[in-house]
Amino acid sequence: MRTPNHYAGAALDRASARRVNDAWIAERLGDPATRVLLVWQSQGVVTDLEAPAIHWLDASALQALDAQPDQLVFLGEVGGAAHFALDVSHVEARESHPVLASLRFEDLRTVGPLLAREDAALLAWVRGLTHWRERHRHCGVCGASTRAAAAGHELVCTNDRCATTTYPRTDPAVIMLVHDGADRCILARGTRHPSGMHTILAGFVEPGESLEEAVAREVHEEVGVRVTDVEYHSSQPWPFPGSIMLGFHARATTHDLHVDDVELKTAGWFSRAELRRSPEDDTLRLPRRDSIARRMIEEWIAEGD
Ligand SMILES: [Zn+2]
Repeated sequence: MRTPNHYAGAALDRASARRVNDAWIAERLGDPATRVLLVWQSQGVVTDLEAPAIHWLDASALQALDAQPDQLVFLGEVGGAAHFALDVSHVEARESHPVLASLRFEDLRTVGPLLAREDAALLAWVRGLTHWRERHRHCGVCGASTRAAAAGHELVCTNDRCATTTYPRTDPAVIMLVHDGADRCILARGTRHPSGMHTILAGFVEPGESLEEAVAREVHEEVGVRVTDVEYHSSQPWPFPGSIMLGFHARATTHDLHVDDVELKTAGWFSRAELRRSPEDDTLRLPRRDSIARRMIEEWIAEGD
């Protein structure tokens, strides 16, 4: 098995059977060994910005913050100690709050690349989960409000005649390194990408479509190229806000590029030598280091060594 990508591989036993054990969960909330991660509007608490790590609080924070069941998510256990996330997004004046003011809240977009992979994975999970909860405060079937169940991992409609349960979701997106079977691959500049950043193609999977079909369709839509030999590489949770990236290699069977100018500014074929010499400036820079795109590009370059 490959080393997990950044944002995967949280070092914690999810102990999912415990989620529905209300008595056990209630006991853990008063257990001195319990650890709590505070989340405020997509931001988690970290130690510092030099060598950041998750800053865990102990169970006394739950009392100090008057934690309500709807704000809590049981994450799992580390060495028998229960770990929770507590969503304090409702606090408006965080800077003057007696508990929160002294803590450093950071968004994963900023701090993600600086964290150890295990902590990045945990914050990615919590960011994705709290985003899902924020967007499902009302039942999608009848419109009544929802309440948390299963220690924060389910939302249940409060209308007894409906009682629909909603489960956390993540949106599959394919991301693909398209190569010519020799020494060139396609990189593109998206209209929303940072200046100079070239990366591999990506897009969301549509209902009724296999992953292989999504790869072929997206490549053809974005650059007009046909592909074959679609092979899985690895995957990466990407909670910005709620995706999982599914990485593939694909071999081009046509080579002329016809760029979709709605999604892309430019696209081109690049050799390994060109990418190895990337100046990392506004003419050409590779994607951010915490992304599966960067890893796939670097591994493909290394295959030519
Ligand atoms: Zn409902």
